[in-house]
Amino acid sequence: METHKFKVVGFEKEFERLKRMVKREDMPHAALFTGPEGIGKRMVAMELSRMILCLKEGEEGCDCPSCKALMDMNHPDFYAVEPTAKGKSSPLIRIEEIGELLNNISRLPLLSKSRVCLIDGADFMNEAAANRLLKTLEEPTGDVKFFLIASRRSKILPTVLSRSMPVSFPALPVETIEKLLVERGIEEEAAKEAARLSFGSMKQAIALAEGDGLLIEKEVREFLQKPLGFERIWTLSKEMAEFDRERLQKWFAAVLLMLRDILFYYEGAAELASSRDMTSFLNIYDRKRALMLSMLTLEYEKRLTANVNFRLFMEGYLLKFRRIMEEK
Ligand SMILES: [Zn+2]
Repeated sequence: METHKFKVVGFEKEFERLKRMVKREDMPHAALFTGPEGIGKRMVAMELSRMILCLKEGEEGCDCPSCKALMDMNHPDFYAVEPTAKGKSSPLIRIEEIGELLNNISRLPLLSKSRVCLIDGADFMNEAAANRLLKTLEEPTGDVKFFLIASRRSKILPTVLSRSMPVSFPALPVETIEKLLVERGIEEEAAKEAARLSFGSMKQAIALAEGDGLLIEKEVREFLQKPLGFERIWTLSKEMAEFDRERLQKWFAAVLLMLRDILFYYEGAAELASSRDMTSFLNIYDRKRALMLSMLTLEYEKRLTANVNFRLFMEGYLLKFRRIMEEK
């Protein structure tokens, strides 16, 4: 059955090698997947997890209770940890979360014969969390496999690196992305443009290519690059009042994404940004402004409901946007 399958594209050879390791049961205790955002590292880890946990032979499309449970993301022997934001702090994986994970895996597996832990965002573990995990990586107990996923290899503790099998995933070639987009039914012209802007991330390419993603990306880049005078505020508000709510929401989401990318650059985490062509934006937006504008945009995105007057709403947003830009 096609539905019970995690789709992996672009690094078939590496993937086959990993699958053979699982089949031969010589997958190391911990593997660390690194590579750009959104290229499918998690999909590979999920498919390997499925094979490890499977009650049958791990074949593609298997519908045993284990494979089904994993597809529904409620497998009792599969644990996933991701960075979470608490209060004002940026997303992190904390020692409590790793502690809870290790506590869970100290029990016997319930459905399968082994257990799998997926740490997606291993580069967001703080040092305490990484050290806690390290103890388990050094002295593994029971049959448990760890998949660590990270886009910033440089943020992984060397001790954790040395205890894991490294697997690095290259960015997908533009032509591969273009081909895959066309296979998804996207027009050739749009596929070409989205692939070019995707920087090797299939996730980003799909977001761009499906629906009005490309158009909105272009609009937002233009919006953020041109000075925001009063006349432009009135024309923009008038134009955007004609959008429906869904379209406006996408516009706000795209603005937020760009501002987030700008902030990633200032935080020295440019590799996390989904867009690479940022120079012109960095010249316009300093760190403080990008942060204030993100907060403003987030606030307006939340307030955007069907019953607001879009024109007044946009005027309010753009005037505040202008005020932040004018501040010394
Ligand atoms: Zn199965």
